[in-house]
Amino acid sequence: IHPDFDERNLDFSSEKGQDGSQSSYVKACLSRYESALYRKESPHKPSPYLISKLHQYETLHKRCGPYTESYNRTIRKLEPGHMTHEHETSDNECKYLVRIPFDGLGNRMLSLASAFLYALLTDRVLLVYDNEGDTADLFCEPFPETTWLLPQDFPIRNRLDYLNQESPECYGNMLKHSGNSSFVYLHLIYTFNDYDKLFFCDQDQIFLQNVSWVIMKSQFYFVPSLFLIKSFEQELATLFPEKETVFHFLGRYLFFPSNPVWELITRYHRTYLEKSDEKIGIQIRIFDPRFLAAAFNFTTSTLEAVPDTILACAYDNNVLPRINPNGSLGSGKSKSVMVTSLTSKYYEIIRDMYWEHSTVNGDVIGVFQPSSEGGQKTGNKKHDRKALAEIYLLSLTDKLIISPWSTFGYVAQGLGGLRPWILHMPKNEIVPNPPCTQAMSMEPCFQKPPSNGCKMRTGVDSTGALGSYIRQCEDTSQGIKLV
Ligand code: GDP
Repeated sequence: IHPDFDERNLDFSSEKGQDGSQSSYVKACLSRYESALYRKESPHKPSPYLISKLHQYETLHKRCGPYTESYNRTIRKLEPGHMTHEHETSDNECKYLVRIPFDGLGNRMLSLASAFLYALLTDRVLLVYDNEGDTADLFCEPFPETTWLLPQDFPIRNRLDYLNQESPECYGNMLKHSGNSSFVYLHLIYTFNDYDKLFFCDQDQIFLQNVSWVIMKSQFYFVPSLFLIKSFEQELATLFPEKETVFHFLGRYLFFPSNPVWELITRYHRTYLEKSDEKIGIQIRIFDPRFLAAAFNFTTSTLEAVPDTILACAYDNNVLPRINPNGSLGSGKSKSVMVTSLTSKYYEIIRDMYWEHSTVNGDVIGVFQPSSEGGQKTGNKKHDRKALAEIYLLSLTDKLIISPWSTFGYVAQGLGGLRPWILHMPKNEIVPNPPCTQAMSMEPCFQKPPSNGCKMRTGVDSTGALGSYIRQCEDTSQGIKLV
């Protein structure tokens, strides 16, 4: 395949060997050069500035990555006795962002992309703590001739699992008790408090500039709040003239499925999707009612009305035709519907309906579901591979219906460059009217942005007002997203 695929692929790092062929880095990752065969060309183009920034980043990562001279020098700062205020970073010195994963795959991908953007903005090198080996198993190395995996012998590796809000290195804690340490830990998960949230303020970014090692645990797509930090505003505007393309580009740049996952994707695509005239994705994610009540203030009983809600959404928006009780086989288009869900019960209802009846316009509808895993088993390799394959397959569809509040669906929409229809979950067995809302943009939602802004800091309030390109999310009014 001609290296030109790189452009279509948004793989900005077309490393070539001396003979002009791709380097082993490209060859080792099948999805890196085959994905262009499966994806429609994106109507969006990355800005030249974004492309050059990514190239610069690749050079930085290669210079500062694991076991380079700079890395070996900088890890000494993590030895006991070193304090952040004692060693201001000098110009040529490398600074790092170590990322600790949290939660399911969708959350991990969104927060990893957010961490990468933060690293780009602050000239840090992103290193991924991959304790369970899932990142290495699921994704190709994104940066040429180096690794993004945190070395096994990283000095404080055995502490990373235990860092929490009580740790003396926790940024929020340091502010409360004016402590000092050899690194700073950022606690950006759902339990974060008002002090932890000051990370999103200008003044705090100034302090962090001089810290060599920043360690971050996050589960969120926190990019929208980076846009609300004044000192990043200009740079972000130049990087992303089209605001809604942030995850679309960063996700496509970072997340090339590993060869085993790519096999799952391509095999499924060839068998069930490729031959139809139109590909439709339906992502069904049912959360525990107690979680929904606590996190999104949504109450629900049983969910028997889910299939009818999905169908109502599909009919209203011309995604699927209604059935014709008296009709015979038509000669319309063929449509493949891929349903993803942890259970098969919703899918079976939709499948049977289109098998037992013809449709009003003669379209023939095939309904498939790759897996029904029963429950979330993050950390189990086979399970996670299927989860990534399904997210990716959803991103290859022409039209997408997703469930509210689910990062699994957000990743698919962003990678695919799709504006999906987001379901309204039924209450009391009644199909909501309308049954769904089309997303304003393909960007994921930051479900729990800081709401206090930076008011705790006198005189600064960068997050008080939403910018013209930041709106409330479609599926949760407390969330914000770029449009
Ligand atoms: P969220 O909880 O919906 O925001 O998404 P996450 O991806 O963060 O966590 C849910 C996890 O449950 C996924 O990563 C998968 O491990 C599993 N899961 C949820 N829905 C599906 C599905 O439709 N297919 C598969 N294979 N796994 C799923």
